[in-house]
Amino acid sequence: MPFIQYLNKQIPYDIERGNRKKTVALHVTADCVTLKVPKRLSDEAISKFMTRKARWIHDRQAVIRHDPLNRIGKHYVTGETFPYLGNTCRLLVVREAHLEAPVCELRQDCLRVQVPSDLTGEQGGSAVKEAMIDWYQGQAVKKITERLPALAQKLGVQPKTVAVKNQKSQWGSCSRSGAIRFNWKIIMAPVAILDYIIVHELCHLIHSNHQPQFWEKVESVIPDCKARKSWLREHSILINALT
Ligand SMILES: [Zn+2]
Repeated sequence: MPFIQYLNKQIPYDIERGNRKKTVALHVTADCVTLKVPKRLSDEAISKFMTRKARWIHDRQAVIRHDPLNRIGKHYVTGETFPYLGNTCRLLVVREAHLEAPVCELRQDCLRVQVPSDLTGEQGGSAVKEAMIDWYQGQAVKKITERLPALAQKLGVQPKTVAVKNQKSQWGSCSRSGAIRFNWKIIMAPVAILDYIIVHELCHLIHSNHQPQFWEKVESVIPDCKARKSWLREHSILINALT
């Protein structure tokens, strides 16, 4: 069986040659990948196409495996699961009659969100989501404030400001003036990953690029930074898919 290579993994796939005229069709499930192609398409063209699609296939399978119903979007209802510091937390929505604003708290592995009982349906879902994001953001600030000083000390640097924001595509950023920003979603990842992201941004206070010296600096504090980086790469779609 042919396979594609992605992040040190081999993903095997099936080729079905049929009566298709020009286009190919790619079908991905949790454990199998099928490519339907026109009869005469060369093996080389197939292999090129699959190499181009490797990252997409890998991410797609990761989503399907972690979400058997293949629902990327969440509905913010009881029973759904959300990651927090690498653990899976179950959401419990409780409706309270005399509640002014939603409240979110973590009890063991359960994220308990109380919402005013007059908020139902879509409104209720949005209220739960907002309360959870508020809570996640607060936890991110707490955890980063707790972890950053020791890591900064090891590197001998001091950021001008540190902020936790909602960023679409970045886990963190560091400006030329020394202002560091983190995406609150990093609180969903295990602490080891959080540390890697913090160290990565702190090292940008020394090297603004990603040249070898930059990575040497990161490695001086996080020797297995490559593994942590690929963990993040592998899981980013799941973390992002949740909100
Ligand atoms: Zn960077």
